[in-house]
Amino acid sequence: MKVVAGAGTDVGQVREGNEDAFLTEPPLYAVADGMGGHRAGEVAAAIAIETLEALFRRSEGALAEQMREANRAVYERSKLDRKLSGMGTTLTAVVLQGGRLRFAHVGDSRAYLLRNARLRQLTEDHSLVHEMVTKGELTEQEAEVHPYRSVLTRALGVDADVRVDEGTAEVEAGDRILLCTDGLTSMLKEMQIQAILEAAPDPQDAVKRLIRAANRAGGIDNVTAVVLDVVETQGEEDDETSVEVIASSRGSGERGGERKLRRIPWGKVAVRGGVSLAVVAVLLVGGRSYLDRQWYVGVSNGHVAIFRGIPTEVAGFRLHRVALETTIPARDAQELEFYTDLPVGITADDRAEADRIVEQIRHDVEAAGAAA
Ligand code: MG
Repeated sequence: MKVVAGAGTDVGQVREGNEDAFLTEPPLYAVADGMGGHRAGEVAAAIAIETLEALFRRSEGALAEQMREANRAVYERSKLDRKLSGMGTTLTAVVLQGGRLRFAHVGDSRAYLLRNARLRQLTEDHSLVHEMVTKGELTEQEAEVHPYRSVLTRALGVDADVRVDEGTAEVEAGDRILLCTDGLTSMLKEMQIQAILEAAPDPQDAVKRLIRAANRAGGIDNVTAVVLDVVETQGEEDDETSVEVIASSRGSGERGGERKLRRIPWGKVAVRGGVSLAVVAVLLVGGRSYLDRQWYVGVSNGHVAIFRGIPTEVAGFRLHRVALETTIPARDAQELEFYTDLPVGITADDRAEADRIVEQIRHDVEAAGAAA
């Protein structure tokens, strides 16, 4: 039995850097999705994968133990360098050897097994929405579009120790394994992923098609896929792989050079570990694309202002930013009975409505001033 691998990563359509990483060093394969501002996520993903690979080569400990070591390596590095403070990463790794698959996993990257036209997710997401689905608080369909669907409950590098999920599965010739980051699964439904996997016999071609489909669906996040085919061989013992890295397709002409990249106006991506709750609030682009479509009028620096996002915080992260700060003193508006809610935020359907609310406030404040 041998393994034929395809792998690729792409920056996507929106983000400026790629903080995903993958590893194809048979029999070890992994994907990681780093997070943290100022490219710290890239560092976190790289340290996690390098540490895992080094320990695996030295055959030190079980896969889950190697992953806990990788966690410590990321964590310790983040303590040494303030610029890297708070960085973290997902890590999903499999070892494919002797007809068996071992996996270890932390975060919301995924491993799937495609067998007999059935796609089965081997890993369980460590995400807030998954927990809510498990508790019956959300349906799968609601979870797919939930604004907090990228909030992780576990990630590597956030705490000194981490709980690692592990498992094994028997594999047989004809099986196809997919490792991927949420840049794929947040853009494509499992049905679409399965259809692409079934339509592309060559693993590298499957990877290219998956990445292209995620980008066509919006490409709001970095996207990474590793496809592993288990193939019958005669007499050959060693795993053999053919791996080709797809370069970032930005500027390759594949998607057309005239297409403008949307910039994220949303500050940095960040990770935070709760002190005792151990809830890692990671708001990735998935949440931000939702937030980018929300508007409200509130108060900034004592002035009436238009905000993009929602007037709340999750684990210390503001889910909004100022789009326009006016010269209208907020206090003057709040004195009028219509606008006492201003500090809480008056929601608007879109930017045009937010502008109309501001003009109404300006008008009312001026009228009240003239009357006084
Ligand atoms: Mg991601």
